[in-house]
Amino acid sequence: MKDSYGRDITYLRISITDECNLRCIYCMPEDKADSCAAPCSSQMSADEIVEIAQEAVKLGITKIRITGGEPLIRPDVVDICRRISSLPGVRELAITTNGMLLADMAYDLKKAGVSRLNISLDTLQTDKYTRITRRGKYEEVVDGIRKAMDAGLTPIKINTVLIGGFNDDEIQDFAELTRDGQVEVRFIELMPIGACAGFPKHAFIKGKVVLEKLPELVEMAHSGVARMYRYPDGKGRIGIISAVNQHFCLDCNRIRLTCDGKIKPCLHSREEVLVRGLHGEELSREIKRAIIEKPAQHVKLTYGYTSETSRYMNQIGG
Ligand code: SAM
Ligand code: SF4
Repeated sequence: MKDSYGRDITYLRISITDECNLRCIYCMPEDKADSCAAPCSSQMSADEIVEIAQEAVKLGITKIRITGGEPLIRPDVVDICRRISSLPGVRELAITTNGMLLADMAYDLKKAGVSRLNISLDTLQTDKYTRITRRGKYEEVVDGIRKAMDAGLTPIKINTVLIGGFNDDEIQDFAELTRDGQVEVRFIELMPIGACAGFPKHAFIKGKVVLEKLPELVEMAHSGVARMYRYPDGKGRIGIISAVNQHFCLDCNRIRLTCDGKIKPCLHSREEVLVRGLHGEELSREIKRAIIEKPAQHVKLTYGYTSETSRYMNQIGG
């Protein structure tokens, strides 16, 4: 279905929980209770999530991403994936995960119809990983990535949020991972939202630093919201997602569903449309309303100009 600006809305991101087993310093406060600027009431059941997804698919959604919080901490995540991937009309089912629990679940997720995985990894150094996530174990993510490759969930996409003074010295190390084509790396600009809204100015670096550090990269066709590159002799792709400095609102084809049953037409807006508890025609009408009310673009974002959403990223799903 098209929104009021002619954009075809085909992509739904579903946050199935706002709980997380990590506490990345730019995403969530140490104490989760502090992130509830807009408190999440109880999270939806699998039945509620699938019913909303089904109605959205009838309206033209073809791609669904499961996210969180950390989606793999939900005991019923494989069941949710199986049910969503088998909805007629779903062409792609993806998951964004921190990878901590992936090793034991990769095969089951593949069998449940998951076609793609994005794994968040902001550093390739063990001690820095524990520092940025406050409690993560680097070896567990690496193990998860290996098992996901064995399970055939390739190419694995690694999401790396660029944080000035933290990982801009690792840009080349990340890019090198793409040489043999098993892994794609996506550098994402840090957005001033939630826990990182008060970070110092130097933390907010532009996506173009990747090209300044790696001038040999060759441009490829764009992929969704990412500008894509590769090494001249590389098989894998390197993406840059400049959500802050070169926003892509004109091409935005997505809406988001929070774990407490509200549709966010735009990540950075306060507007939310409650769909939990609705069924059939009524549910369809409210999803349509969320699509129609999707704003043309989000507010200016940069250091000093924070997102208008009242939620933290773990409550939205990225
Ligand atoms: N827990 C899962 C994970 O980390 O992959 C899924 C949820 S997480 C909120 C989704 C994505 O949002 C992650 O790749 C994370 O790095 C990214 N993210 C969180 N806060 C961000 C921010 N302020 N700016 C840019 N990306 C952010
Ligand atoms: Fe959890 Fe993902 Fe946020 Fe890190 S980025 S705290 S893993 S939700």
